[in-house]
Amino acid sequence: MAELTGAQIVAKALKQQGVEYMFGVVGIPVVPIAVHAQREGIKFFGFRNEQAASYAAAAIGYLTGRPGVCLAVSGPGMVHGIAGMANAWANCWPMILIGGANDSYQNGQGAFQEAPQIETARPYAKYAARPDSTRRIPFFVEQAVRATIYGRPGAAYLDLPGDLITGTVDESEVHFPPRCPDPPRTLAPWENIERALDALKSAERPLVIVGKGAAYARAEEEVRTFIDMTQLPFLPTPMGKGVVPDDHPLAISPARSFALQNADVVLLLGARLNWILHFGLPPRFDPKVRVIQVDIAAEEIGNNVPAEVALVGDAKAIVEQMNEALSRAPWQYPAETTWWTGLRKKIEENAATVAEMMADESVPMGYYRVYRDIREYIPRDAIIVNEGASTMDIGRTLMPNFFPRHRLDAGSFGTMGVGLGQAIAAAAVHPDKRVFCIEGDSAFGFSGMEVETAARYGLNNIVFIIINNNGIGGGPDELDPTRVPPSAYTPNAHYEKMAEIYGGKGFFVTQPSELRPALEAALACDKPAIVNIMISARSQRKPQQFAWLTR
Ligand code: ADP
Repeated sequence: MAELTGAQIVAKALKQQGVEYMFGVVGIPVVPIAVHAQREGIKFFGFRNEQAASYAAAAIGYLTGRPGVCLAVSGPGMVHGIAGMANAWANCWPMILIGGANDSYQNGQGAFQEAPQIETARPYAKYAARPDSTRRIPFFVEQAVRATIYGRPGAAYLDLPGDLITGTVDESEVHFPPRCPDPPRTLAPWENIERALDALKSAERPLVIVGKGAAYARAEEEVRTFIDMTQLPFLPTPMGKGVVPDDHPLAISPARSFALQNADVVLLLGARLNWILHFGLPPRFDPKVRVIQVDIAAEEIGNNVPAEVALVGDAKAIVEQMNEALSRAPWQYPAETTWWTGLRKKIEENAATVAEMMADESVPMGYYRVYRDIREYIPRDAIIVNEGASTMDIGRTLMPNFFPRHRLDAGSFGTMGVGLGQAIAAAAVHPDKRVFCIEGDSAFGFSGMEVETAARYGLNNIVFIIINNNGIGGGPDELDPTRVPPSAYTPNAHYEKMAEIYGGKGFFVTQPSELRPALEAALACDKPAIVNIMISARSQRKPQQFAWLTR
């Protein structure tokens, strides 16, 4: 009988559990895990920092429904990987961090890179464990995978001491549990489905909010049917975009503030009433708003605002139940109501303001002028990765999504620095699609070196676009090194030159007339291109009724 090493067992167990992607930085003691993962056919991407790798692993969970793995060395490497675990925890996305650890017989002796790793991972983990023997590794891998995808999705941590990784066991002694099936789709009681529909029927100003929980649930077909059947106005959250296409006639995103403030009944489909939705509280919501909540996590029900109807379970299954009930007793929200008149008026006003800002040919350019050209070059099925405060907020309103899970951004945790890892994950999952990684200059800087990673793995479907305002929220045109403001970066920094390190092409754009030729040339490149666009430090979002983060 053949002997298996711990590293071989980890790789085989992951593959057996449907893990297809691993991102990380190798070193002692995890090198053999990456090598064997590749032998098992798991796609391994060697990153330049575990932080970006962990963001990629979390994005894989969202994009594929099976956890991505971040592989990190002991101590500092594992600690860097916590960034992605926290992001996955906040976003409710499956991922697994695998941390190497010092040999267990050196515990407590001040071993090389020794650290309290399980304790460090625990607050962000649905499951955090160290296998008790090399032989039993597959048991722990299955538990970790199952924890990440069953119930509310989230992160898991596996701690692997060097002696477990190099240890050997006779093949006959190792049991590999069967692949953990995709999570069962749980239904809501029929009486609650009826109550939910009755509440919607009783509404004067109804609103459906489509969150990234609905996107994660792959509920797109059901939600589209539901919207078409009921003719209800809907609003996607940032990553709920695309579950129903942004150009759907019932989409009311441009009237977001008005809709939230005035809706009397809100149907929440996989979206939390957290800061992104202003906690569901006044002044952003009507104090008497009635909430119908669909969520896989029972403990989320009633958070911040009591739910009138709770539909606990899987969004895809529950919306299908509502569709079934509607096909038995059809009902539509009327097309001509004062609610629709109000919403349409706001949408038109907004379109006029934005059109004016997009037409502004001033130099340096503003965000809206830049996005006007970018969006013309974006194919309908492109994946848009978008981060940086204004770059992301304005990009969310101007970059349309037509397909679910085609937008990745800073998410529930407001994490800046996620973009490059997410772009690499998206490009790996969708080699046939374009990935537009549109970053503020500050957001790009967190993990800018990963452009080399993208090029090394031939992810030529990514275009990196940097909207550069010389700092965090805009910096000065010139810098005195003795008085650098905390938010300033080197003015006019030529980030596009980073493409030269892998023989790619970079483009530096300052004039509106240079924008289209640069984007065209970037899309024609045979390596990931970088387009670095200088904008005015004073460029802002269009005036908002409420300040950012106002409840
Ligand atoms: P958004 O940022 O789009 O508002 P959130 O991340 O705040 O979305 O909320 C997503 C919600 O979706 C979470 O509360 C999570 O429990 C829930 N969720 C995750 N998977 C499912 C599913 N399959 N069905 C229903 N709800 C889900």
